Amino acid sequence: MSDQQPPPQPEVPADASSSSSSSTAPPAKEKGQKGKQPNNNNNNNKSGGNNNNNKSGGGKKGKAATSGGKAPDLPPPSFFEERIKIWDEAKKEQEEKLKELPDEPIVMKLPDGKEVHAIKNKTSPYDIAKGISRGLADACVVAKVDGQYHDMHRPIENAGSLQLFKFDSAEGKHCFWHSSAHVLGQTLEARYSAHLTIGPAIEEGFYYDVDIPVQEGQEKYTISAEDLAQIDDFANSICKQKQPFERLAVPRDTALKMFAYNKYKQEIIGKIPATETVTLYKCGPLIDLCRGPHLPNTSLIKAFKTTKNSGAYWLGKAENPLLQRVYGIAFPDKKQLSEWEEFQAEAARRDHRVIGKDQQLFFFHPYSPGCAFFLPHGARIYNRLVNFIKAEYHQRGFTEVMSPNAFNKELWEISGHWQNYKDNMFVFDCDNTQYSLKPMNCPGHCLMFDHGFRSYRDLPLRFADFGVLHRNELAGALTGLTRVRRFQQDDAHIFCTQEQISAEVQGALGFMQHVYGIFGYTFSLELSTRPEKYLGELALWDKAEKTMEEALNAFGKPWTLNPGDGAFYGPKIDIHITDALKRSFQCATIQLDFQLPIRFNLKYSDADGNTKQPVIIHRAILGSVERMMAILIEHTAGKWPFWLSPRQIVIINVAAAHAEYAKKVQERINAEGYYVDAELSDKTLGNKIRQAQNAQYNYILVVGEGEMNKGTVSVRTRDKVEHGQKSIDDILAEFAELTRSFK
Ligand SMILES: [Zn+2]
Ligand SMILES: [Zn+2]
Repeated sequence: MSDQQPPPQPEVPADASSSSSSSTAPPAKEKGQKGKQPNNNNNNNKSGGNNNNNKSGGGKKGKAATSGGKAPDLPPPSFFEERIKIWDEAKKEQEEKLKELPDEPIVMKLPDGKEVHAIKNKTSPYDIAKGISRGLADACVVAKVDGQYHDMHRPIENAGSLQLFKFDSAEGKHCFWHSSAHVLGQTLEARYSAHLTIGPAIEEGFYYDVDIPVQEGQEKYTISAEDLAQIDDFANSICKQKQPFERLAVPRDTALKMFAYNKYKQEIIGKIPATETVTLYKCGPLIDLCRGPHLPNTSLIKAFKTTKNSGAYWLGKAENPLLQRVYGIAFPDKKQLSEWEEFQAEAARRDHRVIGKDQQLFFFHPYSPGCAFFLPHGARIYNRLVNFIKAEYHQRGFTEVMSPNAFNKELWEISGHWQNYKDNMFVFDCDNTQYSLKPMNCPGHCLMFDHGFRSYRDLPLRFADFGVLHRNELAGALTGLTRVRRFQQDDAHIFCTQEQISAEVQGALGFMQHVYGIFGYTFSLELSTRPEKYLGELALWDKAEKTMEEALNAFGKPWTLNPGDGAFYGPKIDIHITDALKRSFQCATIQLDFQLPIRFNLKYSDADGNTKQPVIIHRAILGSVERMMAILIEHTAGKWPFWLSPRQIVIINVAAAHAEYAKKVQERINAEGYYVDAELSDKTLGNKIRQAQNAQYNYILVVGEGEMNKGTVSVRTRDKVEHGQKSIDDILAEFAELTRSFK
């Protein structure tokens, strides 16, 4: 948002060697790679790529490329000098202009209501912070002036509100990591004469995409995992140099001249209107095109570490040049870096792709990128989740429907998807027209609502649908089960009157609390209200927002307001869950929709026989079942609660003589509907028990001579606790209780 840069782009594996070898193309069509399976992206890239310290993944040697930590010993790139010359001239001009300005007092308002005096174009947020305390001034990384991001040292141009942010805030982290990306960029320029492209902050850390031109008399250099330690050393030395981040606004053409050597920056600047000014930032010899804001200087970065490298296509498009990407993370304190590294290691242990493979839950195949194959044990979890919600639907007045997967494009034209969402849909020809696989259920449900006469007595009508959805996500963005092309949702659409909105929203919140309570998630609620570009009548919006507020207050949990972030068609409640590692995810959503009923001309007849328009509430709790399964795997670290476990019970015999009895016990438990296996091999008892514990069976039932004679089992649990002998009836009662109470 604060960058003059395109949004972050998906990565490709570090060893992708040319732009023609798409990582997800079927193996048979891979050029020059006969018999070699392409890397399955789903297994080696996670959002932001920052959860693994993968320093061994990249660095495959291409034929005409050098790599492997042997950076060519290069003089400073020639563009350094030219850039700085243009900068110095423009800077001098700016400083002279500033000097001429008269001292004009202004008043800044702090969040606590206090007012401070400042001089226009002279006083900086840092000066004001220092007036409060030196410690505060030095701890703050960025400011906001009247809601706009602002460097700590940049003079304030207008009176208004002033907010200050430390690293521990979201605003502070973003600025910190964004500034760290410049340090990385400077390093890549200095060490490899790289041409910088884009280098944004991401959710955790930052990256820079660069193009390393071939140097005269040298081979093309490919950054590999072995380079990262040296990049760290160089970057950390930049941090120690306390390079100030300086800001300068120049005419667009000056910027074009400054970046004449760099076709990527030229392309970015080219998209800015010729009459506009462009902001530049300088730290050390690096001058970068950027809107800012940045840290006061590089010395606030006490710990800088690259985390991995990969490839990435310019602007995320496979037909564009393949760039080199380096990811990093940085902190204002070395201790924070070591804590972060420990956390990453724990997250890597819990990675759903790793556990999914270990427990044989699912896999992906290049013939259907982003579409999971659920193996028998994975399908057990998936179905349990779905059946759990279905049982709740039955109790909560939802009716299940089933609707088609493929629709004529006319449906999407009515719903607006064809105009706004077509790039994300799988479109194909059928019956001499175009069809699309559905990316969502709502338009189909509108047809169902419209099928026949609707009276107020039918409302609220709650259509639930586990229909299969397809969204054409970029191949490079596909990530395990968390970003897929094929998925199912616990999707429902509530068609109701305006008077029913509050009760329905409260019902949805209560439903969600019940489900998340069972999973052990805490959650927070956020109400997003009317955006700048909205459709519909203002009065209707005001009323709906008030209704949502009332419903949230009646629900009784704290909530926050997110003004202007609603959908264009109605306000919404976003729900963020927090998992065992205190990571936040958005799964559930409750959205009001006034537009779809208008587009589909939906009507019902009220008590007086008048024709009225219903409101639609889109809501889901699990969200995508695939994604929820990924979150649950990582939340539980694969130690499934009994009710959700794909491996609930295993029977182990002490010796061959007890195998028959073991089978009988298995049959009896199986008949009650539990997932029960028998391990009757001639491995040692200790060995079999250990294996069962590792496989995460919740219950290990051992049968030997004593158990056989008494008709009992010796009960052990996954946590290595022994519970003694129990009768089959007693253990079945225990299982039933665990299932009933979702334990
Ligand atoms: Zn920047
Ligand atoms: Zn919907």
